[in-house]
Amino acid sequence: MTERLAVIGDPVGHSLSPQIHMTWIDTMGLKASYESIRVPAGETAAALEDFARKKFRGLNVTLPHKQAVLKSVAEMSDAVKAIGAANTLSRLKDGGWRADNTDAPGLMAALARVGIQSVSGKKVLVLGAGGAARAALYALDKAGADLVVLNRTPDKAGAVIADCCAQQHRFGPLDDLALHAEKADLMINTTSAGHTGYHFELPPGKGRTFFDMSYGAPARAQLEHAREAGWEAADGLPMLVCQAAESFRIWFGGELPDIELALEACRETLKLHG
Ligand code: NDP
Repeated sequence: MTERLAVIGDPVGHSLSPQIHMTWIDTMGLKASYESIRVPAGETAAALEDFARKKFRGLNVTLPHKQAVLKSVAEMSDAVKAIGAANTLSRLKDGGWRADNTDAPGLMAALARVGIQSVSGKKVLVLGAGGAARAALYALDKAGADLVVLNRTPDKAGAVIADCCAQQHRFGPLDDLALHAEKADLMINTTSAGHTGYHFELPPGKGRTFFDMSYGAPARAQLEHAREAGWEAADGLPMLVCQAAESFRIWFGGELPDIELALEACRETLKLHG
């Protein structure tokens, strides 16, 4: 039997997930398929029932369903409970769904790839307090980072810390960026500001890392500016591939699949299509 997998979202056509997972499925010779399926907002529960009926083995979940799926699952990991969102569903033996969130380990694996093996005791400045920030803050807090979270809407940053972190951390408006960036060992941009062509002005960052969760065209101007200012700058594509690898392991078990292979395939696609 061919195992069916899919990413669901709206929009979902731009997703690199099918390419990532099919790279692994093909190279491992697995009998599986991975589709991209548009599910409009408001249709989450009905879609999950349908996918369970059709015996899908697993789903990746993107906007606007990451929170909505939690109402329809039978089980969820502790990380999902704290983050309040899932990106990976696996069908249970009795037909229900289990929810996991692999964005958190995906971020930590991506940081390790740029030489940041531990954030314990490090000053980490996080920009943004949306969905991506929730998983990042959960992972960084758990790993012992000393966090400052700045957001266009500062109150949202406070609320996300309260929801996702066990420790207390400082938060404030993006206007304070220069002040906190001076002292940060690591800066992580989780905002979607780059999608409108905007980039944040950074102070000199020699010897420090600027990690942007965006990738492709939306990350370009910000990364270019960060490098000019002396930061070691990294994009979010390795995080995307690392979170996908964690999902793949949840569905198929065993070792993590080949990150470099899928990353290379994605870089080629972005070169062609932005
Ligand atoms: P959300 O819509 O949930 O959050 C957007 C965040 O960006 C909010 O904090 C918002 O502030 C802020 N923001 C938006 N526009 C601006 C602006 N012009 N100036 C300043 N702040 C702004 O998005 P997500 O968290 O889901 O995604 C954020 C980014 O992370 C996207 O680029 C996405 O592609 C990327 N991402 C990457 C992943 C990866 O694996 N690499 C995984 C998930 C996301 P406010 O609260 O004030 O509205």
